[in-house]
Amino acid sequence: MKEETARRADLRIDVGALRRNVAVLASRAAASGARTMVVVKSDGYGHGAVTVARAALAAGADELGVASVTEALDLRAHDITAPLMAWLHGPGEDFRPAVREDVALSASSLETLHEIAKAADQVGRTARVHLKIDTGLNRNGCPAHLWHELVTAAARAEDTGSVRVLAVWSHLACADELDHPSIDEQAERFHAAYVQARRAGLSPERHLANSAATLTRPELHFEMVRVGIAAYGLDPVPEHGDHGLVPAMTFRSSVVLTKRVAAGERVSYGHTWTAERETTLALVPVGYGDGVPRVLSGRLAVWLADALRPQVGRVCMDQIVVDCGDDPVAVGDEVLLFGPGDHGEPTAADWARELGTIHYEVVTGMFRPRVSRTVV
Ligand code: PLP
Repeated sequence: MKEETARRADLRIDVGALRRNVAVLASRAAASGARTMVVVKSDGYGHGAVTVARAALAAGADELGVASVTEALDLRAHDITAPLMAWLHGPGEDFRPAVREDVALSASSLETLHEIAKAADQVGRTARVHLKIDTGLNRNGCPAHLWHELVTAAARAEDTGSVRVLAVWSHLACADELDHPSIDEQAERFHAAYVQARRAGLSPERHLANSAATLTRPELHFEMVRVGIAAYGLDPVPEHGDHGLVPAMTFRSSVVLTKRVAAGERVSYGHTWTAERETTLALVPVGYGDGVPRVLSGRLAVWLADALRPQVGRVCMDQIVVDCGDDPVAVGDEVLLFGPGDHGEPTAADWARELGTIHYEVVTGMFRPRVSRTVV
């Protein structure tokens, strides 16, 4: 059953590429004296959180980051013992399992800090905390006017042994737009928050840079960078130059049927495509049920039998049709829907451009029940 699924629609995850990318990023961080946290939230951006975590740690990552405590505990359940931080919490969340498993927790408010301290007291351990300041993204950091209160309370909680503040951190809004003025504005606010934290008696580290800032703004590396997308080989700032990243995900399938049709034959639902001449069609068993967006009907190209070939007609739930002209194609031939691009196949960035989105969304959304993931 598994083998059959693997032939149908498969995400090939290249661990060597993950490792090389992390090594590239970690060496950039290390050049400014910073450590590297690799972000493996949302199942490792669709690549498999445990696979990515292991590859990243083997390649020199110092820490891992995820959004939710649930994601962090899942990594712990897979024997990932590295420093690990979770930053997005719901109201009334029970932090005791995280404290027990030594998962560092972000706190953006007094309420969360108190909840974390309470959980630590109950568990009988000191909770590790990263205090998040909102420097302008206006998501879940602590607003500047409440920061003094938060750092003062954190210093008190340190004194009682309930928490230990590891870092002050924030997240950039426009790091992938080179020289966007908000980057410096956020950096200034971040510095002010850090100074306030020190004045309150804390000795935190700092982390602010995502992949884009890690690649373009070494002065913002501070003590640690948090890289996500670039670790997966997808460059958030390609216009900044070639950073030597290699996409780690390839989406592939194979031909299950070929068919010679006469000129004038029409293809797929709605008969939106007509063969202008006699041609060979190849049926590939992946459709919108496997992550091939129907909105790309007739705009996709796939790499098949040493050429880039057009997908024709509508994308169906389970299959697409590829026009192969007079070229020899056979059942079982591999079909690359996207990958690193080395063979000439489209990349996740190409899909993103066609879809009007970002490559983050493309790769993160690919893994689904009918799609297998093969780690190579
Ligand atoms: N830090 C936080 C808080 C994030 O939410 C993310 C991802 O969205 C990252 C770091 C990594 O960002 P990127 O994937 O752009 O490197």
